[in-house]
Amino acid sequence: MEALVLYEEISQLLTLEGVVQKKGRRPVQSDLGCVENACMVVNADDNLIVWTGKGTDLPETYKNLAHRFSGKGQVWIPELVECHTHLIYGGTRHHDFALRCEGQTYQQIAAAGGGILTTMNATREAPPELLLEQAAKDLARFQKFGIGTLEIKTGYGLTLESELRALEVIRALSDQAAMILVPTFLPAHATPPEYKGRTDSYVDLICAEWLPEVAKTGLAKFFDVFVEDGYFSPQQAHKLFLCALDHGLKLKLHSDQFTSLGGTKLGIELGAFSIDHLDHISKEDIRAFGESNTVAVLLPGASLFTGTPYPPARALIDAGARVALSTDYNPGTCPSRNLPLMTTIACTQMKMTVPEAIAAVTYNAAAALDLEDRVGSLIAGKEFRVCTLDTDSYEALPYCFGELE
Ligand SMILES: [Zn+2]
Repeated sequence: MEALVLYEEISQLLTLEGVVQKKGRRPVQSDLGCVENACMVVNADDNLIVWTGKGTDLPETYKNLAHRFSGKGQVWIPELVECHTHLIYGGTRHHDFALRCEGQTYQQIAAAGGGILTTMNATREAPPELLLEQAAKDLARFQKFGIGTLEIKTGYGLTLESELRALEVIRALSDQAAMILVPTFLPAHATPPEYKGRTDSYVDLICAEWLPEVAKTGLAKFFDVFVEDGYFSPQQAHKLFLCALDHGLKLKLHSDQFTSLGGTKLGIELGAFSIDHLDHISKEDIRAFGESNTVAVLLPGASLFTGTPYPPARALIDAGARVALSTDYNPGTCPSRNLPLMTTIACTQMKMTVPEAIAAVTYNAAAALDLEDRVGSLIAGKEFRVCTLDTDSYEALPYCFGELE
């Protein structure tokens, strides 16, 4: 009993118990497991939650614990989970933004040598210490917004050497951060200039040489592909995915951001843990999501920043899909680390409810990373990872317009 710690008088606690039971589908207010004047018992040895509930229901055996703290005046929700970032990159893209404000399109800027190529060159040239320093600053900012678990993709180096360097930077960050970091290998983010017009050869190279090498290092958990017109086709993604599965990596996918090419159907069929963007998803694929465990990760910040349509959150949730929200933090299309702000945009622009938005940045985002058994809810057996809000209701999270830190 010595290792047990009692947190008492917590003004409001969200366990998300009902969300867990429904596996994140169609969450409503009662699923949030909102407890007023709550208690929580934590085992300090393994940092796991032992008991949560109303203070008046606290079992006799925990009533006299020596280690006890008050949560009076605080709202406790699960630490937020950020399930889609491109956090390792060099350089800046301020000038691209200025050009877009003058009327140039994303495609025109890329064709003139700007866009992702600018970031790729700067990332290739950046020494690892600099990448690490910048990424650590970004992580600190994410932490301020209540995030405790965060996914990071490679994909701005696009040589084996620089992609491995990005994975090593993520490993180094993991060693020094209090957060849970999830590394994703994304060599198929764009075709590098060395393979311009020869994307099939680039895909063959990833399968024959890069995937075996990355798998050997054990530095990546997920493998991701950007399926889009002018990037990678569903056929190329299929080949890459089979090879990634062979090497023990789990699948993620960027799909339907600008056009619907068939990537979503492929991702669901191959059991991808998440398919992300979905701004232009077809009706048929929305139905398919309702019957699959694949999480639909929506990125409203990217739509806001590029001035493109928002993904159909309502239709996906109503079809029974598990929907998560993320910033898509990256220098080109969403340079924001403010995940709570994404819940505001989701509620006001995509007509999500507050319970749906809360589930989307906790339990469902954890499911997108295959971590829902550890984080994203505050029930017995889960890790003691709490986001403490200095307010009087969890409803303040989307309400506060990203200002709640
Ligand atoms: Zn992305």
